[in-house]
Amino acid sequence: MSARVIDGKAIGAAVRARVGEEVAAYEAQFGRVPTLATVIVGDDPASEIYVANKHRACGEAGMGSVHHGLPGETSEAELLDLVRSLGSDDEVDAILVQLPVPEQIDPDAVVGALDPGKDVDGLTPLNAGLLAHGTPGLVPCTPAGVMEMLRHESVELEGAEAVVVGRSKLVGVPVARLLLSANATVTICHSRSRDLAATCARADVLVAAVGVPKLLGADAVKPGAVVIDVGMNRTEAGLFGDVDYEAAAEVAAAITPVPGGVGPMTIAMLLVNTLTAARRRSGG
Ligand code: NAP
Repeated sequence: MSARVIDGKAIGAAVRARVGEEVAAYEAQFGRVPTLATVIVGDDPASEIYVANKHRACGEAGMGSVHHGLPGETSEAELLDLVRSLGSDDEVDAILVQLPVPEQIDPDAVVGALDPGKDVDGLTPLNAGLLAHGTPGLVPCTPAGVMEMLRHESVELEGAEAVVVGRSKLVGVPVARLLLSANATVTICHSRSRDLAATCARADVLVAAVGVPKLLGADAVKPGAVVIDVGMNRTEAGLFGDVDYEAAAEVAAAITPVPGGVGPMTIAMLLVNTLTAARRRSGG
């Protein structure tokens, strides 16, 4: 292996420490702490773990957090009522409804009920539109974390070839938009793309956000590229990214591991977004 390992745990910890200091300053100025509200519908064990980690991170940064666990048979109307009441609750700065939601609930309706000023995942049409417009409001946490890692590693983006594999609203599209704003030349690939490996192999910066374990091998990596693997794929053999780590690390200049890469950045940027939302609500 020759690639430098990009340590998301360490970069995320530095971001969280900085947020902790800023939270203390916010509290001194406004007499309250930024507060995140989370909602889970049903009892998906993975969602429970993700949300518990988010609450722990809030506590460690000195932020407040409240959790609403709703039964799996909750109706869409009941969930929308809760989301709207959190939107008008002055003590809540940021709202996160953990996906997936049970099938009787339309996730787009949930997003539509969110107050855009508290939309900590940056999913509402307003925040997505602001990002597309090049004037970001609240930016989805994982894409923001990817950009923070690239900044931390001093990766030159100006004029670079960037290839993003995946076009989801939560990861692929916003990451591509942020790379474009950083003046990279951006290609987005998806399930209908032809010659995926050949396109990826053009990339100075390759971002994989697919959900297929080890989809991208050494032939998809340009020698000297920076590889950011967003994928989190649980298999019987363990947790894997979308990139074949061992093979790609022989070719890349730098690569994120799974776990310990993008995952910790997502939580760190959730804290950043919660603080940002609180400041904007306080006029600070
Ligand atoms: P998603 O909504 O399912 O989107 C997956 C994207 O990958 C789609 O655009 C799809 O194309 C594309 N795709 C699927 N199979 C492909 C193939 N064989 N070749 C090329 N493209 C293909 O997933 P997501 O929410 O963006 O998440 C992607 C991955 O990131 C998942 O593993 C998820 O667990 C992980 N994730 C990690 C974090 C983190 O904190 N580390 C956060 C969020 C997500 P089409 O559009 O054509 O269907």
